[in-house]
Amino acid sequence: MNVGSTVLGYPRIGPRRELKRALEDYWAGRTPVAALESVASELRARTWAELAASGLDSLPGNTFSYYDQMLDTAVMVGAVPARYRGLGLSDVDTYFAMARGNDAVPPLEMTKWFDTNYHYLVPELGPDSVFSVADNKPLREYREALAQGVTTRPVVIGPVTFLLLSKASQEGFAPLGLLDRLLDAYEALLAALAEAGVEWVQLDEPAFCADRSPVELAALATAYERLGRLTNRPRILVASYFGTLGPALSVLAESPVEAISVDLVAGGLEGIASVTALQHKTVVAGVVDGRNVWRTDLNSALAKCATLLGSAARVEVSTSCSLLHVPYDVDAESNLDSAVLPRLAFARQKLAEVVLLGRALREGTDGVADELAAAAEAVRVRSGRDDRVRARVEALRPEDARRAEYATRARAQQERLKLPPLATTTIGSFPQTGEIRRARADFRAGRLGPNEYRRLMRAEIERVVRLQESIGLDVLVHGEPERNDMVQYFAELLDGFAATEFGWVQSYGSRCVRPPILFGDVSRPEPMTVEWAEYAQSRSERPVKGMLTGPTTILAWSFVRDDQPLGETARQVALALRDEVRDLEAAGIAVVQVDEPALRELLPLRERDRKEYLDWAVESFRLSTAGAADSTQIHTHLCYSEFGDVISAIDGLDADVTTIEAARSKMEVLDDLRAVGYGRGVGPGVYDIHSPRVPGEDEVVELLTAAVRVIPAERLWANPDCGLKTRGYAEVEAALTHMVAAAKKVRAQL
Ligand code: GLN
Ligand code: ZN
Repeated sequence: MNVGSTVLGYPRIGPRRELKRALEDYWAGRTPVAALESVASELRARTWAELAASGLDSLPGNTFSYYDQMLDTAVMVGAVPARYRGLGLSDVDTYFAMARGNDAVPPLEMTKWFDTNYHYLVPELGPDSVFSVADNKPLREYREALAQGVTTRPVVIGPVTFLLLSKASQEGFAPLGLLDRLLDAYEALLAALAEAGVEWVQLDEPAFCADRSPVELAALATAYERLGRLTNRPRILVASYFGTLGPALSVLAESPVEAISVDLVAGGLEGIASVTALQHKTVVAGVVDGRNVWRTDLNSALAKCATLLGSAARVEVSTSCSLLHVPYDVDAESNLDSAVLPRLAFARQKLAEVVLLGRALREGTDGVADELAAAAEAVRVRSGRDDRVRARVEALRPEDARRAEYATRARAQQERLKLPPLATTTIGSFPQTGEIRRARADFRAGRLGPNEYRRLMRAEIERVVRLQESIGLDVLVHGEPERNDMVQYFAELLDGFAATEFGWVQSYGSRCVRPPILFGDVSRPEPMTVEWAEYAQSRSERPVKGMLTGPTTILAWSFVRDDQPLGETARQVALALRDEVRDLEAAGIAVVQVDEPALRELLPLRERDRKEYLDWAVESFRLSTAGAADSTQIHTHLCYSEFGDVISAIDGLDADVTTIEAARSKMEVLDDLRAVGYGRGVGPGVYDIHSPRVPGEDEVVELLTAAVRVIPAERLWANPDCGLKTRGYAEVEAALTHMVAAAKKVRAQL
């Protein structure tokens, strides 16, 4: 029967983050490039050995990267902007200059990879861009694997997605116009691969899982018509992931490519059977979730594959996307909550699931009945159910998400807080010194007792409060020294979450995150932040902001249960936060900030799914905050400058004050807010905290002067773009001093 098994990609940072260490050692000049290369080739060899041993029929290749696959593709086709070429560096250092910048040049822009928490580097293309096969990394790695006896299918970003995700180096230029030129390079690439004996190549076109215009769909048709017609080429698998292909499915089915992958976790089988042209293709069925950590419901996955057999010439069982987005191996975990452990599958376990499904599909289920039954059991057992939480969510009424009119609240808050126009504040965190990190680590490891830990944290809070008072800020923060991460901190204190030891996932370059696993009903056994906020408030007459992370951001940066709608999970988290807000109020806190920096990140790729998402995201934020008294000022913070698609939702959050990234876009966001009728407080960031540069006072005066023309000063705040935890104290003190001086100056001119 025509059945196979494969996966679309594999993690590359190393099971113990070996690549991270090797990269950072090299960047810091501690090791020569040869040391980095040797770690890299060892990791590649291990990956190939593991994939080969898994029993998959076909293995992805070129899944390794020193930094990012989009950057690799740019370098592959020679799209290296002149400012990097001119540096006269070695190839690898030119590559790292593009990724990270150096004293002479800033890096390429970096942005989110679709709706994941992975970030890619944005290639820059202009009318003068020319392409060639400048660096045939796919072929190099194919040969390297072959020398090890492993045959791979090189994975490369497809030409159309490459152009759609690139940015124009000059205004008004559309990179898609370069398609013809780029296809010349891809033709040469495919010819070189075929020459070397490569049988299959995988071209990733995830951009077509988002809404695309007719022109873009036509570009897809052109691209695969041209590549498909080549006589000297490997067979082509066009991979799609993170959603359904929609109209792009028939475009690809009618092109001469041999195989198409569909994400059957994000989307269903609808519409697939009606694409009759698929009868002649291999369909790679992404039935094992490449983005989440749960064991697969094998029976239902099998049923999907079996249905597909009726619509395609061949079916290959696969993952929904590359396994890059999940950790390596559940078996590495020794401290995981036993309620959740048996339900987990990381990359290595997912390989086994795919292989098993392939076997079952080919040979029937008799030979694998035990495995299927065990999997069904693991999926059926749902631990972490909490009836009290469920009853509470059940009992929610619409008014629980509503506060009084803004005017009423604003009056009550002003009476209590007596803030000047253009009030000054910060976003929450202050620099995290080595000393603080050490104290946290020592406390975790039990080397530091709770009393001593508390003493150190309090001393730090005291210092941060004194600093803010001396700078003259109006609304203070405690500085968040006790938090390692704005989601992990809460996940560790809430019931329903588990933490892994080695569950690292690449976020960008050498940076990894270890998302908590939200597996059960969420509740708050005890207050999470009150102790620190209360202490900070006791050290000052000025208001201190309580600091929480919002429900959508907590979900976005965790692996989340998939047995109920996300909105339901968000409501549970919201109720826990609602109790925290109440407790903060009871402790005398008059201002509470609930951060939602990930609001935009989870926005569905397709327009038709957005309303439902924004409805629950907004509602859960409001549920967390609407229990507050009128006189409690609720802030929220978001850190993206392009808010186009979510601007009405931001208004819908109904926060009294919204602080928002704005420095890089020169306050443009204010016009956007005004356009949707936003009429509450707003704090457009007046300087970019991503760089160590200290803004001059005049520069901030200029921005604030522009801002008061759009928003009345009573509702306008002055604050940085985001938290200060990655900065140093010297910069922070100077920058905030300039900011406060600038606010005073503009205030005086009102
Ligand atoms: N309160 C957080 C901080 O200041 C907000 C971080 C964020 O927006 N990503 O660090
Ligand atoms: Zn931020």
